[in-house]
Amino acid sequence: MGVGTARHCIFCEIVHGAGEASICYEDADAIAFMDIQPVNAGHVLVVPKAHFDSMDDVPEELALHLFGVALRLSPIVRRLAGASAVNVVVSSGREAGQDVFHHHVHLIPRVAGDGFEVPLPHAGSSMPDRTTLDAMAARIMCAMHDPVRRVVPLGVAVA
Ligand code: 5GP
Ligand code: ZN
Repeated sequence: MGVGTARHCIFCEIVHGAGEASICYEDADAIAFMDIQPVNAGHVLVVPKAHFDSMDDVPEELALHLFGVALRLSPIVRRLAGASAVNVVVSSGREAGQDVFHHHVHLIPRVAGDGFEVPLPHAGSSMPDRTTLDAMAARIMCAMHDPVRRVVPLGVAVA
């Protein structure tokens, strides 16, 4: 779903002051507040004020703005949380682990031994040969340059 306010969206409620949140940043288009179930203290969610279900629905300029906010908050959160590193995480879509369908950027301060993992490379994956990687890269490049953005799903043979 695109721009607007979704019914029964907890993040829309927070944006409109109807839901409780600990806000740490706000501007005309974005708001950031503390995650209710933080990985570590200082875990922040950067959220567009307008409702977009997932990253793919967000206009590029706004998506970049949200990332810019995360970038500016990062060293502050890192210092205040006593963290040595951060993860910036976006889960876009149910299969990617998205639970709240109002786009958001996680800013997660990390400390040694906290047990949180973004396990890449994925232990269960193989390493495709160069031809396979090159073919995929070429298809992505073509799709990026296609003025009508006619995208054939990856894995589907192109006529
Ligand atoms: P997702 O899995 O969608 O990427 O992450 C959703 C995040 O939102 C989770 O980290 C969860 O703890 C957080 N969250 C869910 N409900 C609320 C809420 O009502 N308030 C706040 N501040 N965070 C929430
Ligand atoms: Zn919403």
